[in-house]
Amino acid sequence: MSIQDNLATLKDRIEKACERVDRDPEEITIIGVTKYVSNERAKELLEAGIVDIGENRTEEMLEKYDAIGDDANWHFIGTLQSRKVRDIIGKVKMIHSLERESVARQINNRSDEVIPCFVQVNVSGEETKHGLTPDEVEDFIQTLAPYEKVKVVGLMTMAPHTDDEEEIRDVFRQLRTLRDDIKEKDYLHAPCDYLSMGMSNDFEIAIEEGATHLRIGSILVGS
Ligand SMILES: *Cc1c(COP(=O)(O)O)cnc(C)c1O
Repeated sequence: MSIQDNLATLKDRIEKACERVDRDPEEITIIGVTKYVSNERAKELLEAGIVDIGENRTEEMLEKYDAIGDDANWHFIGTLQSRKVRDIIGKVKMIHSLERESVARQINNRSDEVIPCFVQVNVSGEETKHGLTPDEVEDFIQTLAPYEKVKVVGLMTMAPHTDDEEEIRDVFRQLRTLRDDIKEKDYLHAPCDYLSMGMSNDFEIAIEEGATHLRIGSILVGS
């Protein structure tokens, strides 16, 4: 299937999911995840109209950045080590995987601009998953207040590996509740308006539960 066809199908499914819960598709940002594919394929995605591109490894993000540059908005969605922060600063538009103060400190020291970040939460508790436990999140966000270049725009999670839709929905719902709790506190450095959740297999449930940023790889570009 061509990327245009995949994108048309995806947009159609997003619209239908939005209709079910009375949401506006305009509130939803599609991040095309290109980690499986070539620079050429990533360029095709841009040509098809997707400007937000996600990568989960710094080396691969940099390689694609060299080929594509600032035509795309680069989203870093994978585990980020503090010593790698400097490589992507100035290039990355949003970081979806903040979970350590040392990374926040590096962003603060190295960036000229405020970087919108999502705090990653391991809601499902699966050991293979990164992120803070839900009860660590608020304290962590409070420790970020002195880092002026870090703005917590929302929370991010990955659904558990299961076919059980209710289990997935429950994880997304918990993230939303946590987001609502933090948003209510009105932290200046953490408006926490957004929810980065939903991938190829579960984005419709994520939309129904309030996702604002979908990270979509395989059903868009292939795998
Ligand atoms: C790979 C990846 C995605 C996209 O996964 P698909 O199932 O192919 O849509 C989303 N988020 C993260 C963090 C990823 O690593």
